[in-house]
Amino acid sequence: DELISQIAAGEVVERPASVVRELVDNAMDAGARSITLRLMGGGTRLISVEDDGGGIAPDELATALKRHATSKIGNLDELESVMTMGFRGEALAAINSVSELTLLSRMDGQPTAFALDGRTGEIRPAARAVGTTVEVKELFFSTPARRKFLKSDSTELAHCIEAVRRHALARPDVGFAIWHEGKLVEQWRVHPGAAGLEQRLADVLGEEFVAQSIAVEYNAGPLKVIGRAGLPDAARSRPDHQFAYVNGRFVRDKVVMHGARSAYEDVLHGHKQPAYALFMQIDPTLVDVNVHPTKIEVRFRDSRAVHQAVRHALENALAAPRS
Ligand code: ADP
Ligand code: MG
Repeated sequence: DELISQIAAGEVVERPASVVRELVDNAMDAGARSITLRLMGGGTRLISVEDDGGGIAPDELATALKRHATSKIGNLDELESVMTMGFRGEALAAINSVSELTLLSRMDGQPTAFALDGRTGEIRPAARAVGTTVEVKELFFSTPARRKFLKSDSTELAHCIEAVRRHALARPDVGFAIWHEGKLVEQWRVHPGAAGLEQRLADVLGEEFVAQSIAVEYNAGPLKVIGRAGLPDAARSRPDHQFAYVNGRFVRDKVVMHGARSAYEDVLHGHKQPAYALFMQIDPTLVDVNVHPTKIEVRFRDSRAVHQAVRHALENALAAPRS
């Protein structure tokens, strides 16, 4: 089973940033309002994700590390309308098989925390406020072939930060802090309410991006798009700012990217590197997120409608008269 887990890990865990993505997903699924990431060696030596979510019951700790054990889906029908980030129950098992993992958690209403050693399975009482800390040490220590593919610490760190940035944009109501080698490298405070999204965009992508972009607001029945579309200056200086979300989940999707590119080509002729942050809300039964273990790919029931919506949403924003 160790071997099967390690093979499965190859699909979920490519580098420290994949671990970060999965752990932050879990923290958000647990209802965290504050998430702290601590890294050493760009995440290769240590990734610790601390949250103030609901925690894990002591008798559920061991289950959390088992393959295909998830508390988030009760039956196959629920897969149709999954709203949580996780639902496959493979991430922790996969990460545990290629690292030294410790799970420390105190459930809401429990007098004490418990720590589970992922290697030995030993559980002991520990001290902690309500919430969960997952500590991942020495990633790929037992799989040198995979370890070889890791880049420099600074490159891996940049990928880890990017993974958190993707989460942070979608959730201005959650606070994030990232520490590396004991130094605070990023901190994004909570911005509640309707203005929160723009404030978070400014914090994470920079004031200039917000200043050089136009609000997107588009409604096509079961498909809604909000966000910001970068004007030529933003698109030129920040072509890496292409963030698309489907029901709160970051996606890299060909349909969405192509729709965006078409809009930029139409309105700002020749602009092939758009910059945008788009948040789509789609009836969950019209999108399948269970396509790939990393869940970064999705399948739309009607990809034409999605393409049109993205294109029109951006065209409307970019073509609107500006003062
Ligand atoms: P999935 O997220 O697909 O359910 P994971 O392997 O990522 O699978 O996590 C397994 C289980 O461990 C989750 O279903 C959840 O019950 C529990 N869990 C993991 N991380 C946390 C956390 N930060 N807070 C509370 N529960 C957690
Ligand atoms: Mg998960």
